[in-house]
Amino acid sequence: MWYNFAFKLLAKGYVMTFKYLELRDSKYDERMAAEEAARCLLCVDAPCAKACPSATNPEQFISAMRAGDISAAAKIIRDSNVCGGACSLVCPADKLCEGACVRTAMDRPVAIRKLQQFVVEQEQALQLQVLDKTPVIHAAKVACIGAGPASLTVAAKLAQAGYQVDIYEAMPQAGGMMSYGIPPVRLNQELVDWDVKTVTDLGVKIKLNTKVGVDISLAQLEEQYKAIFIGVGLWSGRTAQLGERNLSGVISAVDFLVAARGSQGKDVVIPKSVAVIGAGDTGMDCAATAKLLGAENVTVFCRGAKVPAYHEELKFVQSLGINVATQFSPQQFLGDDAVHGIIAQHADGYSELKLKAELVIYAIGQNIDAGEAFAGVAIEGNKIITQDFQTSKAHIFAAGDATNGGSTVVQAVKEAKLAASAMLKFLAEE
Ligand SMILES: Cc1cc2nc3c(=O)[nH]c(=O)nc-3n(C[C@H](O)[C@H](O)[C@H](O)COP(=O)(O)OP(=O)(O)OC[C@H]3O[C@@H](n4cnc5c(N)ncnc54)[C@H](O)[C@@H]3O)c2cc1C
Ligand code: SF4
Repeated sequence: MWYNFAFKLLAKGYVMTFKYLELRDSKYDERMAAEEAARCLLCVDAPCAKACPSATNPEQFISAMRAGDISAAAKIIRDSNVCGGACSLVCPADKLCEGACVRTAMDRPVAIRKLQQFVVEQEQALQLQVLDKTPVIHAAKVACIGAGPASLTVAAKLAQAGYQVDIYEAMPQAGGMMSYGIPPVRLNQELVDWDVKTVTDLGVKIKLNTKVGVDISLAQLEEQYKAIFIGVGLWSGRTAQLGERNLSGVISAVDFLVAARGSQGKDVVIPKSVAVIGAGDTGMDCAATAKLLGAENVTVFCRGAKVPAYHEELKFVQSLGINVATQFSPQQFLGDDAVHGIIAQHADGYSELKLKAELVIYAIGQNIDAGEAFAGVAIEGNKIITQDFQTSKAHIFAAGDATNGGSTVVQAVKEAKLAASAMLKFLAEE
């Protein structure tokens, strides 16, 4: 019966969407968190704190946890990092705080990231507002462009210093790549929304669906605001065509991930066979997304012998049954109008791989999506040029992916805190 078939399709779609949205990491309950916190040696001059780019001090928040003061623990995290929720899931902790943990030499590092996740989730469950709110005391107003981690950090710091801050965000949702790039299997939207709320609770206003350069010009912002921060990240994906024809079905990683996450996995049609070109972290996220949304065969092409992605992400995609073809470089796409296959050549110069692929996703990096929007602000290649976070226009500042060429959430937070200090100095001198 047709309705049986339709029901099966719907059920399959539901299961796929559910798998795509389900967070893969397990959580601590209260007992597990207490046991793990008890493993911390509460080191003096803790190396874990020195290893954190955003200067979060695990020794201090773990001490507060052990004293049963979740509010104090959450405040320690938030004061140093307003994106402390997202970072508790996506920070490369083994290279940062946990990598520096003294307990590693004894048995294994304290699971700092999971303890932070526990604190932030308790903060959310109890609806705590731990950051100090300051009334607006300055006449000068500040605008931030983009509502990713960099702008959220700057906005929080300036609002806490008594400035009215308005964020202009192109997308319908705040959070930047935390809401549109990193797949929900690694970072759930509720936690990102909670991070954003800690910033709006300080009085910061976010104007969504407002792209600077399209819906409002930089010149208009310059008339209204004494200082402006650009935190627009890298939102223009790179693609290429291999062959003479311009085939459909070849898209960039950013376009693919934004379409998937922006629609909660509902608006993307995933064919049976998908190829991903590029084996960095973004390539792994694309491959996992395609697989979790229903692709049967997913192959990631990696030019070199060593996969550049974070080992945890590589392990995850392999656990999903995704093939990673190392030392294979795609040479040609097959198809008339739409791509239906790909030919790749091995580094040995002889072996060839011919695969079916009805969707090809390029994960080879992103560019800044500036166009004419930021006329007068010096941009070179993939970066806005800054000197101590000040752009070529003295009242305009920038940080995050748009200036560092693409890094991590915690790196964007670190730079944005420094940019906020530079902006406060500039505003005080005006
Ligand atoms: C697939 C993927 C996976 C990642 N995984 C991790 C990870 O596991 N761990 C980690 O720490 N980091 C990860 N990152 C990197 C991390 O997300 C970024 O480093 C971080 O989000 C950069 O913050 P940002 O504020 O500079 O820019 P973004 O987060 O990119 O935010 C920029 C914001 O500006 C908006 N915008 C752009 N142009 C305009 C305009 N003209 N007007 C108004 N708004 C505009 C955008 O819509 C966006 O909301 C990942 C990135 C990607 C793409
Ligand atoms: S280095 Fe490890 S043991 Fe020492 S304070 Fe930090 S988390 Fe605790």
